[in-house]
Amino acid sequence: MAQIQIKNVAKTFGAYQALHSIDLTIADQEFMVLLGASGCGKTTLLRIIAGLETATTGEVWIGDRRVDHLPPRERGIAMVFQNYAVFPHLTVFENIAFGLRMQKMPQAEVTRRVERTATLMHIEQLLKRYSGELSGGQRQRVAVARALAMEPDVILMDEPLSNLDALLRLEMRAELKGVLADSKTTAIYVTHDQVEAMSLADRISVMHQGRIVQSASPIEVYRNPAARFVAGFIGNPPMNFLPATSAGNGQWTVAGQTVTGPNTDAAALEYAIRPEDLTPSETGLPATVRLVEPLGAHLLVTFDVGGHPLRAVLDSELVLKPGDRLNLAPQAGRTRWFDPKTTLAVA
Ligand code: ATP
Repeated sequence: MAQIQIKNVAKTFGAYQALHSIDLTIADQEFMVLLGASGCGKTTLLRIIAGLETATTGEVWIGDRRVDHLPPRERGIAMVFQNYAVFPHLTVFENIAFGLRMQKMPQAEVTRRVERTATLMHIEQLLKRYSGELSGGQRQRVAVARALAMEPDVILMDEPLSNLDALLRLEMRAELKGVLADSKTTAIYVTHDQVEAMSLADRISVMHQGRIVQSASPIEVYRNPAARFVAGFIGNPPMNFLPATSAGNGQWTVAGQTVTGPNTDAAALEYAIRPEDLTPSETGLPATVRLVEPLGAHLLVTFDVGGHPLRAVLDSELVLKPGDRLNLAPQAGRTRWFDPKTTLAVA
């Protein structure tokens, strides 16, 4: 059982508070992604779980053991970092075997595990090569294979695919997902790449300024962002926001149109809608085309709606040019409403 519990963990570097009271439970065998912009504290949290950094306050539990006072090697975890940490003067075999040799594992078992994980990562033909001779993608596979060879209860990965080119990233992402789905490992994976997060995670924890803003399944984070930050961070392009003023009884004025929304006492809210949830229609938000960007599979169109920019992903067959006017209807059930004071979703 390798459930991970982070209890009230905070971290300060001098006067700077990098993490504010983080509470998070990662289920046994779950794949958790920590997602957020540069500097939000993802790596710091991962390093605290690994034991490479000490929390200022709080506790870390793995299974039924409190581990925050234990050195990294006693925590039963394996790690894969951005910079691979693959030794160039060792062969691929010896790189993968490295952690097993440290444990003084019998040779037969070392060979079995190295061959098994090398096959999983499709590098079995490279075992005799020196790691210094490998491409970035191959080295990355060696780093992952080395971590998996430990057969850890927990694997921690910090942007492990960030140095790869786009195609290799895509390939490795699929492989990692397959390999970890078949293992019994609990994984925590740090990235600032939302597509990677969406594709890999059982659950995503979106971080912002040292806090977890939302922890939920990828589809939940995408459909029902809990805070404006999440809505503006997830999705490419992210959600659109328009100011809404109360017309009473749950009716709201958005770009001169009356829209049904939450029945709250607030005088003003923000209306939010995803670019892919808008379609041209007879009625809806009155919009003027500003910019048309053909993306192959669809058109990305930037509109002006009541003086605010609004982007829509539309059918690539549509013929639109700047200055054209039309109405955009939101797909039913896909709007979100945020309180501008708290920045939290109210509906
Ligand atoms: P990135 O994606 O750029 O790696 P991150 O979300 O992983 O970012 P962290 O590396 O966790 O961010 O850093 C969080 C904040 O803590 C940053 O503002 C960083 O400057 C600060 N920080 C991290 N380590 C230290 C340190 N050893 N001393 C002082 N400040 C630090």
